[in-house]
Amino acid sequence: MALKALDIFKLLPKTNCKKCGTPTCLAFAMKLAQKQAKLDDCPDVSAEAKALLAGAAAPPIRLVTVGTGDRKLEIGNETVMFRHDESFYHQAGIGVIVPDTLTGQELTERLAQVKALAFVRVGTRIGAGLVAVENASGRADTFVTAVQAARKVGLPLVLMAADAAVVKAALAAGCAAERPLIYAASEGNWEGMAQLAKEHNCPLAVTGADLDAVAALARKVRQAGAEELILDLGVGSLARNLEALTAARRLALKRKADGVGYPSMVCCRDADPAQNLIACCSYAAKYAGIVLTPLRAPEQILPMLTIGQNIYADPRKPIQVEAKVYSVGAVTPQSPLLVTTNFSLTYYTVESEVEASRVPAYIGVLDTEGTSVLTAFASDKLTAEKVVTLLRSEAVTKAVSHQKVIIPGYIAAMSGELLEASGWEIMVGPREASGIPKYLKTVWQGA
Ligand code: SF4
Repeated sequence: MALKALDIFKLLPKTNCKKCGTPTCLAFAMKLAQKQAKLDDCPDVSAEAKALLAGAAAPPIRLVTVGTGDRKLEIGNETVMFRHDESFYHQAGIGVIVPDTLTGQELTERLAQVKALAFVRVGTRIGAGLVAVENASGRADTFVTAVQAARKVGLPLVLMAADAAVVKAALAAGCAAERPLIYAASEGNWEGMAQLAKEHNCPLAVTGADLDAVAALARKVRQAGAEELILDLGVGSLARNLEALTAARRLALKRKADGVGYPSMVCCRDADPAQNLIACCSYAAKYAGIVLTPLRAPEQILPMLTIGQNIYADPRKPIQVEAKVYSVGAVTPQSPLLVTTNFSLTYYTVESEVEASRVPAYIGVLDTEGTSVLTAFASDKLTAEKVVTLLRSEAVTKAVSHQKVIIPGYIAAMSGELLEASGWEIMVGPREASGIPKYLKTVWQGA
């Protein structure tokens, strides 16, 4: 379990010297416990305390990286059972299984479908995180051909084969440097698979009949020199798998068992697409780091990605967009300027309604610490001073030649103060964003 602030405080110098930027050692300990500071920020902490704190701070679930570069997938490093206790950190990667029995054209089309499984949601790109080539043919040459084609998708790879010689052939053909996940070491092949993972510095999945068997095999594989392991806990029914995933997380966090301190994964192949989707979503929520499934249609992956994105958003930080002036459509200096807050849902709702109006417009976004219009107004995070600062900013003065601003209907009470402070014409927009298209077409364009 993560160290508590008081445990950390006992190991600090307790001089309250403020060199770490906090007023007291206790305040620093609290920041450390909440992962808002680094131990290195205290220059006076002893080497002994450093070693103790570093050991205790080591993640109970190892961070494992599949792939390299911008599209690499990092999983693990989780510290809590429940998101509201702190946060979940590494969203489950959804991997699409592609069998190597597909012929040339079929394979090309399937891989193009995998590449196209991506969306932009609340300003973030979400999509398939891995492409898993399965050695359904049983042949090494066919597998190598399919892997070479899959490399062009640009996603981290999973090499799914029971025979270590087949995996070796794919690694030797050039993909080893891309750190593919080798899937999987089992009782029958673990020595060969562990050797490949060690030799090529690749992550390795470990599979077995149940959690005990998987943990026991993970210990053997680790002793053989493979370090980045993923526990494959897709061992049975949905209920049984969720039980295994939950037990693995709990044991790892409590550091109660050896061989479980790794992220988990599940391979999900229910023949019924609806059941398959339910299972995949459940695993993405609790507690799989990777879910492999043979989907291909966008509607099959979007719910999994949406659940992952929602659950892995840090509950301590509202989702925010950058506070700046955005333009929607082919704006001109005469285009309207609307003001809103930097809470993502507020901004994207306003943006989509402006888009729907087909009236090109600027949206001036204020930093209200990720709160919505009413909350920000009520808590003095959306004030006339802030709006005036925005109106006088270079971003606005360069963008528009008029002096009219549309404020949300909910802050109509600010109009007088704003008029006085800015000298601009204050136009009170609709309360709900759904009223923006009509407002822009009638009130603004008729203005
Ligand atoms: S720098 Fe170290 S000793 Fe000084 S206040 Fe911070 S934690 Fe305490």
